[in-house]
Amino acid sequence: MTEPAAWKRVGCGRPALLRVELYGPTSLEHARYLCVSHVSELVARATLVGLVPYRLPGRSMESKRCGEGYDFPPIVSWGGAGNSAAQV
Ligand SMILES: [Zn+2]
Repeated sequence: MTEPAAWKRVGCGRPALLRVELYGPTSLEHARYLCVSHVSELVARATLVGLVPYRLPGRSMESKRCGEGYDFPPIVSWGGAGNSAAQV
């Protein structure tokens, strides 16, 4: 059984060593910090729901914990529907 958001619960709270960015169909949608033990589990689970993972080298993440991260809001294209008057 595959839960759509199971990957969001991956993480153990230990100091993170890696950052993974997860891209949806059109844009970057999520970023997560992970320890070495959990990065492969997160990548596998996120891939199952159609996200495309990019693994970035760790650097200065002393304050980040495994499982922490960001969820980015959906991106609306500039000049999309109803937005043409705002173009310069
Ligand atoms: Zn972990």
